[in-house]
Amino acid sequence: AVMVAGSVAALSEIWGELQRAAGATERLVELLQVEDAVKDPATPAALPGTVRGEILFDDVTFHYPSRPGVAALDQVTLSVKPGETVALVGPSGAGKSTIIQMLLRFYDPEQGRVLLDGQDLRELARGDFRRSVALVPQDPVIFAASARDNIRFGWPDATDAAVEAAARAAAAHDFITALPEGYDSPLGERGVMLSGGQKQRIAIARAILRDAPVLLLDEATSALDAESERLVQQAVETVAKGRTTIVIAHRLATVKQADRIVVMDEGRIVAQGRHEDLVAQEGLYARLARLQFT
Ligand code: ATP
Repeated sequence: AVMVAGSVAALSEIWGELQRAAGATERLVELLQVEDAVKDPATPAALPGTVRGEILFDDVTFHYPSRPGVAALDQVTLSVKPGETVALVGPSGAGKSTIIQMLLRFYDPEQGRVLLDGQDLRELARGDFRRSVALVPQDPVIFAASARDNIRFGWPDATDAAVEAAARAAAAHDFITALPEGYDSPLGERGVMLSGGQKQRIAIARAILRDAPVLLLDEATSALDAESERLVQQAVETVAKGRTTIVIAHRLATVKQADRIVVMDEGRIVAQGRHEDLVAQEGLYARLARLQFT
């Protein structure tokens, strides 16, 4: 029990992991096992003071240990320039979430390398590079705490002004100030229940506050009302500016706005380009676009 508590304390700085850990105990145990699967190097390489956010998947192949027969990623090579926004699309099981999981180094590739600013993730201390990577999950965890503390979660030193600036940038300020106690309003189980779009904007505000050069965003699949959709879109645009952004995209507005769309299928990248070009190719993307985005 002491060991588990220690591990949890060590993890508590790392937002993405908490998102995963905050659910059921089973999921926490699962997470800790995953943590054991990847090890920090004895002498980690140093990231430069300023991370540019260049990402390279270099011929990466990976199978989940529990599913050795299926390549979750099959010889994937993907290069993302600093500041670029890439939208990942593809049918269920294509490998989109696995890309995100590998970037958070929940798993290591069996073959190939994942590089951040030219450094193999395996050569870096995890705490070090995860500070450079912010995750906005599909269904963000909202804690039983005030709106303010929910946004500054993991960054207790963030000032009220910084929290509010992040909320404004994430298009969350207006709905928060409309709550009975504004930023002090309790959220979560016994507090105000938020809509899916509001939760995502809280998570985007958290990511803005962290100011990480790399942003990983798993877009909500659930339907949002038109206004919420517009506000989330606006928040995504703001947070993506000046950061390397990889978004698992479920909305037409997101893919249209991306610098590049990467189409995945069965663990492989099968096409890349802009929306119009991919639609014109009449391949998997055109079919997906007709099904998903209309
Ligand atoms: P979705 O849109 O449904 O989330 P995806 O494109 O994100 O799909 P992945 O979740 O990356 O796809 O899955 C890639 C492959 O790996 C699939 O065959 C999937 O069944 C498998 N897989 C994903 N997660 C796990 C896991 N934790 N354990 C075992 N197999 C997994």
